[in-house]
Amino acid sequence: MPAYRHPVSSKLPAVGTTIFTVMSRLAQEHNAINLSQGFPDFECAPALRALIPKYFNAGLNQYPPMAGVMALREIIAEKSAALYGTAYDPEHEITVVPGATYGIFTAVTAFVRPGDEVIVFEPAYDSYVPAIEVNGGKPVYVRLQYPAYSIDWQAVARAITPKTRMLILNTPNNPTASVFSAEDMRALEGLLRGTDIVVVSDEVYEHLIYDGAEHQSVSRFAGLAERSFVVSSFGKTYSVTGWKMGYVLAPKELMTEFRKVHQFNVFVANGPLQHVLAEHMKDRDAYLSLADFYQKKRDFFLAELADSRFRPLPSRGTFFQNLAYKAITGELDRDLAVRLTREKGIASIPLSAFYHDAHCDRVLRFCFAKSEQTLARGAAILRAL
Ligand code: PMP
Ligand code: GLN
Repeated sequence: MPAYRHPVSSKLPAVGTTIFTVMSRLAQEHNAINLSQGFPDFECAPALRALIPKYFNAGLNQYPPMAGVMALREIIAEKSAALYGTAYDPEHEITVVPGATYGIFTAVTAFVRPGDEVIVFEPAYDSYVPAIEVNGGKPVYVRLQYPAYSIDWQAVARAITPKTRMLILNTPNNPTASVFSAEDMRALEGLLRGTDIVVVSDEVYEHLIYDGAEHQSVSRFAGLAERSFVVSSFGKTYSVTGWKMGYVLAPKELMTEFRKVHQFNVFVANGPLQHVLAEHMKDRDAYLSLADFYQKKRDFFLAELADSRFRPLPSRGTFFQNLAYKAITGELDRDLAVRLTREKGIASIPLSAFYHDAHCDRVLRFCFAKSEQTLARGAAILRAL
């Protein structure tokens, strides 16, 4: 190494390595059961895998159109119209992207200027705040109310100022596993009426919602759809988190600005995979059956934890189960998550990682997108604590 060291002035001085990487690495080092980072430990559907050779051997290996393969955009439009009642124009209002993280980042970059305020609910998925800050924006935090993680809409009203450019929401919510109700959405619609605030609605868990609840997409509410980016991820829906594929919906005038950034950031998402997904999406049951599939996993995990000293918080959506541990120890959640990984062989995510001030309600997040065998082994360790 040369002697010169660059005097870096970081654009993200407070940012370290994401908690998902930290905990998955620690789990691997200690050979622990990894219920931390959210990803399935099982293969995606054989029908989906079977389409891969077909489309990678079909002469489709050059750039697809900038906004995405039309067949995929068309079937996405059909799906959202059928499920949520809003018609998005595939030509101007749907863009296929390399993952939801990218979709969120691009929407923020297209709209947030230095000094703009962006409302985020805490605990917040960890990519939101860095996306805001690297663009010079200022996150304005509204805390969800433990233990139901409900929203105080008056606090949201107080957080809105003339500088508010954007609001980011996420339902079903990671990491709290709570979901927005129709009343929540109507409250938000009312608050934003008459403003020019843009909404980024992270809906990557749209199909993972339990106990008969319905996903409240912003696209169901005219007063929200007209100002919103809806972000979805094929990674969650089809158990292919490593593919990094997703899509974004927005009215034309918003999507035009989104594509100005998109075309110079990545230009296009993987082409052959878009054809694979377009064909696979014809099978509606593949996503409509997900709620049942994951609800069974949640219930299995909870049944295995029945006589543990952890207190399960409601998991109404996502593939996460939060467990409150006050009855077991007074340790901070980060310390406990690390200790359980090292000493007991089970990895989880501390919820304080999702608060800017490391607020700690003594809750750990466990991912149940795992085989029953893995969940049973994990629960056995937790029951013994
Ligand atoms: N938002 C939330 C709430 C998530 O949990 C995740 C996933 N892991 C993402 C966005 C990112 O999805 P993707 O892997 O498609 O970028
Ligand atoms: N969304 C996943 C989770 O919440 C992880 C994604 C990532 O590792 N970046 O665990």
